[in-house]
Amino acid sequence: MALRNITIRGDEILAKKCKPVKEITPRIAEACADMVETMMAADGVGIAAPQIGIMKRFFIAMPHVDAEDEETRDRIYVMINPEITYREGTQESSEGCLSVPGYMGLVDRPYKIRIKGTDLQGVEHEYEFEGFEATVFCHEYDHLDGILYSDIAKDMMTAEEYSEILHELQELHEDDDEDTGNSEIWEMKKERSNQ
Ligand code: ZN
Repeated sequence: MALRNITIRGDEILAKKCKPVKEITPRIAEACADMVETMMAADGVGIAAPQIGIMKRFFIAMPHVDAEDEETRDRIYVMINPEITYREGTQESSEGCLSVPGYMGLVDRPYKIRIKGTDLQGVEHEYEFEGFEATVFCHEYDHLDGILYSDIAKDMMTAEEYSEILHELQELHEDDDEDTGNSEIWEMKKERSNQ
């Protein structure tokens, strides 16, 4: 396995529609292994083939960041020729991307999705995800169509400001035991920029 270079926003590769995988070759398997390593080294929860310069329709996701048990937390999905077969509801999602370093954005996503795709053995799976997991799969899927979250975000801020605000709100919520909501974070960003 090897770390691959991550393509950065501005490179036209990230704006192109990827082509279907016709055959799961050893090169695809090797790319997937490298993508896992590259994603983990960069502390990401997903990475799509065009982000390492491959214009084919596949991505990796490791979306169960909040799972109680380690096995679920460490679960990695390989999605080859994925297709979103169902979308339901809406949610606001705060997203970052390994190809857009240093920023966070607020994006509208479906609350629940079903997505099917093939694994490295050529077996087709269909999964249902909601909440954060659904946003990860939608984000990675968009990469295959040349769409970055920053193209569709309603608002953006630097990752530095985002973590400042998050920290501030977590301190505020220390006493009332409430979770910090997405909308709260972006409201505070607006308030700050009005000052
Ligand atoms: Zn991304």
